[in-house]
Amino acid sequence: MQVLLKNCGFIITQNRDRAILRNFDILIEEGRIKEIKKEISVSTKDCEILDCRDKIVLPAFLNLHTHSPMTLLRGYKDDLELHPWLQEIWKVEAKLKDKHFYIGAKFACLEMIKSGISCFLDMYFGMGSIFKAVVEAGIRGFLGEALMDFKEEGRTEEEIKKAEKFADFCIKAGNPLIKPVIAPHSIYTCSPSLLLRAKEIAREKGLLFTLHLSETRKEVFDCYREHKKRPVNYLKDLNLLDERFVAFHCVWLTREEISILAKSDAKAVHCPISNMKLATGGVFPFREMKEKNILIGLGTDGACSNNSLNMLEEMKVACLLQKWFRWNASEISAQEALDLATLNGAKILGINSGSIEEGKDADLVFLNKEHFSMLPSQNLVSNLVFSCSREAISDLMVRGRFVMRDRKVLSMDEEKTKEEFKKALEELIA
Ligand SMILES: [Zn+2]
Repeated sequence: MQVLLKNCGFIITQNRDRAILRNFDILIEEGRIKEIKKEISVSTKDCEILDCRDKIVLPAFLNLHTHSPMTLLRGYKDDLELHPWLQEIWKVEAKLKDKHFYIGAKFACLEMIKSGISCFLDMYFGMGSIFKAVVEAGIRGFLGEALMDFKEEGRTEEEIKKAEKFADFCIKAGNPLIKPVIAPHSIYTCSPSLLLRAKEIAREKGLLFTLHLSETRKEVFDCYREHKKRPVNYLKDLNLLDERFVAFHCVWLTREEISILAKSDAKAVHCPISNMKLATGGVFPFREMKEKNILIGLGTDGACSNNSLNMLEEMKVACLLQKWFRWNASEISAQEALDLATLNGAKILGINSGSIEEGKDADLVFLNKEHFSMLPSQNLVSNLVFSCSREAISDLMVRGRFVMRDRKVLSMDEEKTKEEFKKALEELIA
């Protein structure tokens, strides 16, 4: 089956030259981009031809950090800092059942589809139910059971079993869009033995290992008090750092810690809105990480600390924060922010997307070229980062298959999902 995107108004390719093409065609075959040029003609009848003259086509966004079912907790316990906030959140999370994980994740997928996100990296409980939601939504998920033993010896084994069970289930399911990750929560909720065992599993199965890292000053102080070293040194001494280590937040790092992360080829994920909302104080060391060539992705974090799953906003805030913090208007460009949300996310996850080039998977977002937030068209990347509204997003394609067209989600019944979501929430609060 082929799809021919005819006469695309603009294509923001994100290729090596960051070329923006005008009135080019894109031919997609078996989920991949086969050809990009002007006036492609097809001979086969098995080809859907779409007139894209009013569209801007760009690579879909990758949300590199979230906790999808937390859509259920949107607006719950605002105005708290991370540690008191977590205490409140854990109380409610203890009440969540499989149906909540499922419908919370499905609702998150609905929002992400409407936001042009084709892929997300998730950490939460009840991953079996989340898996089901992501399969139905038809987008890509990198999913990991959140592991926490609260440093109680008796709980470590149970957590390890959970991680292993889900990873095996996910691998066996063989869904090309969904991959497992190993996701211990943080150094303050996990014992060293849990971290070590989790890393063993990740190495054995060749999976990413993800962790919240240096999100608050308290985390750093507590680590120093307990281990006489800072978090990154602690992880290094446990031999946990390598190219498959993905660290979320990273807002309280020293230059030495950044060098250690760089040497081990670890990856970092910036979540500016969550950091600002939870008043974590530290600012992501974008300049220092960039100097050391650390690959940086961008994530929203959960819908309870953001409170939306919107990569357009995330790119904008990432830019604003760095410019403001460094007193330097050219500290980070809109182009760099777009790279974080597309190319870098795909590189970190090791998937063949993030740009529009021949041979790449067709994970594409379509915008209405004439939407007020994308006009004038002189600087499309700037518009995308600084002014674009989610309402400008019309279609989303994942691996060559449309999951949304003309803002209608095809992979699920939007109204039914909303109703199920509201009902599950009422039961939870009752
Ligand atoms: Zn998080």
